[in-house]
Amino acid sequence: MKDNPKNKDKIYYTILIIVAIICIIITIGIIFFNKKNKNKEEDLEIAYTELIKKIDNQEVEKIEMTVGSTSTKVKLKNIEKEKQAIVPSTQAFIELIQEQVKNGNEIELIQNPTNIGVRIVQTLFSFFPTIMILILFILIFKMQGLGDKGKVYDTDKSDNTNTTFKDVAGLDEEKNELIEIVDFLKEPKKFHEMGAKIPKGILLCGKPGTGKTLIAKAIAGEANVPFISMSGSEFIEMFAGLGASRVRKLFEKAKKIAPCIIFIDEIDAIGARRTNASGAESENNQTLNQLLVEMDGFETNETVIVLAATNRPEMLDKALLRPGRFDRQVTIASPDAKGREEILKIHAKDKKLSEKISLKDVANDTAGFTGAELANVLNEAAIIATIKKHKKIQMEDLEDAVKKVTVGLEKHSRVISDKDKRLTAYHEAGHAIVSKFLETQFDVKEVSIIPRGLAGGYTMYKTNEDKYYISKTEMEEKLVALLGGRAAEKIALNDISTGASNDIEVATQIAKDMVTVYGMSDDIGPIHLKQKDPYERQVFGENIDDAIGAEVKRLIDIAYKKAQDIILSNMDKLQAVAERLLEKEIISAEEFETFFS
Ligand code: ADP
Ligand code: ZN
Repeated sequence: MKDNPKNKDKIYYTILIIVAIICIIITIGIIFFNKKNKNKEEDLEIAYTELIKKIDNQEVEKIEMTVGSTSTKVKLKNIEKEKQAIVPSTQAFIELIQEQVKNGNEIELIQNPTNIGVRIVQTLFSFFPTIMILILFILIFKMQGLGDKGKVYDTDKSDNTNTTFKDVAGLDEEKNELIEIVDFLKEPKKFHEMGAKIPKGILLCGKPGTGKTLIAKAIAGEANVPFISMSGSEFIEMFAGLGASRVRKLFEKAKKIAPCIIFIDEIDAIGARRTNASGAESENNQTLNQLLVEMDGFETNETVIVLAATNRPEMLDKALLRPGRFDRQVTIASPDAKGREEILKIHAKDKKLSEKISLKDVANDTAGFTGAELANVLNEAAIIATIKKHKKIQMEDLEDAVKKVTVGLEKHSRVISDKDKRLTAYHEAGHAIVSKFLETQFDVKEVSIIPRGLAGGYTMYKTNEDKYYISKTEMEEKLVALLGGRAAEKIALNDISTGASNDIEVATQIAKDMVTVYGMSDDIGPIHLKQKDPYERQVFGENIDDAIGAEVKRLIDIAYKKAQDIILSNMDKLQAVAERLLEKEIISAEEFETFFS
């Protein structure tokens, strides 16, 4: 969402930068110009010592000076043209000439009054460097956010707080958990009289795009109080001490306009565990310390509620989570099928949809999508429909939009060599065939060798089931499916390619999580070992990392072996599917099934 204050700031910076650039150009111009003039006049110039000599030798006819200026015109007796001289101390020079005149040296001395125009210009130019430095300072301070940068969405001024719970689809449990905050902001007195303690800080945990900012705004909107927001990442590039002062200012402002909501996005950027490090890290420590001080400082009766968002609550400094700080956590999960349908409905309101469209079907096709991604799907669908000159958004537009958001734009235009195509065909056919023989894996929905985004091809699965738990067998088989592409390349073409790098990365990650997060390794047992410091891990044995590594490798080895076995016993099918892919580039679910009947 765009907020005006930020845009205004941008214009402001742009103007400042332009002024600074103009100043620099003018300065350089002046220096250059002066130099050039000087060069021209070189033979017309006369050094001070030489001038004194010439005066002594009675060679000087006339001297013309301007009060307040060191530049002096000199007319020599034997030369027609006037020369210029720089006279360091004018008063002493005048006395010297008067002395000479007294002694019979015939010099005409003319003293002109100051030329005001010239003086003003000179003075201005002498201030130039100062002005430039000032501008630079203002720029730096503004950029570092010394200025008041916390954004306030005032209820009566901004449309942002028009957001209410109605705009937040799904998330019913979360809304229920947060409704008491709304009541409290509306009628704090009632709660205080009862002696009730209301949390000061609430941590909203969840993936980006799941609606954390949205729900925070909705709370402000429901309670009709201002919403001040700031992002943790804004602090990272700050000068020493500024992060802390920004935090202080943010809370100062909040107290002034209370009751209100402070929203800190990406709090992990400042709230990550404190270290003893120096530099940027210790700067973060300072900011974090200030945040802790502020959280402790304000009283519950000040009616300021701090909401903070993060995707990595486990990374946060424990001190942040103590009572009186962010002692309550609300997890915002990716929406389930029903939630997705509701989110789609909300974002479909301002779109022209064909009556035939079933948002329910779209919801079923988009398991794992966040609210932001779903909003994006509808927007993409509207764009596609416009380009295709449809009167209303059609189901096919929506389907294309889903694909586009999933794997990036189809790139028909990319020229691919036959060899690459062949490799991709066998790779994707490998995934599809291996999955077919794995109980727990989803059915194939589409196999294609049309490149999308970075991938040369893709195999899509029917993931229309929302799952909360995944079994060990399922994870093991997922590894097999992922390695099916590589296994097919190796066996059918006796060569392997870089095309499997992403599969390998994902598989390795899953295997690691199985061992260190889900406790699925018999060898290591149900112990959480991920993201623990090495010394913390050592509690579980000197060579625990070796043991983890061995387990991960074992899981991958077994999966790769199984993938190869499946390919070897289905070589005819692999070949058939790959050849069909080379011919048609894309195979639907129905067509894929015909290879097995
Ligand atoms: P986060 O703060 O978790 O990264 P946002 O709140 O910024 O996510 O969500 C981005 C956008 O996605 C919202 O502005 C909204 O358009 C859409 N969105 C996300 N979740 C929902 C939801 N539950 N209902 C309606 N729209 C949503
Ligand atoms: Zn692959």
